[in-house]
Parts: sequence; C-alpha cells; structure tokens
Amino acid sequence: MRIADVLRTKGSAVATIDPDVPVSELLRSLAEYNIGAIVVASPDGVVGIVSERDVVRHLHEIGADLLSSPVSAIMTTEVFTCSPTDTVDSLTVVMTERRFRHVPVLSDGRLVGIVSIGDVVKSRIGQLEQSQDQLQAYITQG
Ligand code: AMP
Repeated sequence: MRIADVLRTKGSAVATIDPDVPVSELLRSLAEYNIGAIVVASPDGVVGIVSERDVVRHLHEIGADLLSSPVSAIMTTEVFTCSPTDTVDSLTVVMTERRFRHVPVLSDGRLVGIVSIGDVVKSRIGQLEQSQDQLQAYITQG
C-alpha cells in the first residue's frame, strides 16, 4: 500500500498557516479544523510544521505571552516529508522512530496531502483484515 492510496481515501486537503500570524490564531485553526498539526507555508512553500505538542511545550516555558508570539517562534523548521510513491510501511517506521504523528506529502515540490499516524494505523488495519479474509477463504474453500 502506498501513500497515494491513503490520499485517494482521505483526500488531499491540507490546512496551512502563515508563519507570521500569532499562536492564538493557530489555536483557532487547530480547533476549527479539529486537527493536531498544521503545515506552515509562505509564498515560497513549506517553511515548517507546528503541532499541539509545540504549543503545550512553549506554553509551559513562556506562559500566556505565547499567545501573541508568531507561529514561526514555535514551529519545527526541518520538516520530514514523504512522496505519494512511498509505502505506508516505510512511513510507519519513520513516524514511530522519530516520534511525530504528521507527515506532509509533496509531489514535485507541491503540497498534495498530509498523512497522520491515525491514517497509517487505519490503512494497516485494513490490510490486516484483507489478509485475514483471504486466509479464511483459502481455509474454508480448500
Ligand atoms: P506531533 O507528533 O505531530 O504532534 O509532533 C511532535 C513534534 O514533532 C512537534 O515538535 C512537531 O513540530 C514535530 N513534527 C511533527 N511532524 C513533523 C514532521 N513531519 N517533520 C518534522 N517534525 C515534525
């Protein structure tokens, strides 16, 4: 199973945010879209990613002043991305080892989707159910 198959099911919508907007605006977007992370994009393309975990960590360090700080102050700038041709299995390994739950998908430098750990788990459960059905059919028919 490839990332392109996951995107076919979930769609290619990706929430993005400008690096200069305040964290209060970021919180509004996370709540509105009911998501845990947003890709930070400028006219030049992807410049970072920011997740609810970044907000919690910095809130602990800075306190309430964080709300007026720009998103750029708390985002991760070295973004790990994947391509639609990558396999779900390889992404599972990376997400588990590096401990992040969101990976933007780029095709020819263009943002074409985002995959969360939830999408990856759902896809793997689907694969396992399919294998189980095939094995059961093989046993009962054979
Ligand atoms: P998450 O598990 O997505 O809430 O993110 C945990 C931490 O990893 C946060 O500091 C994020 O900014 C960072 N992070 C999330 N996704 C990525 C990614 N694709 N590449 C690099 N860092 C990431």
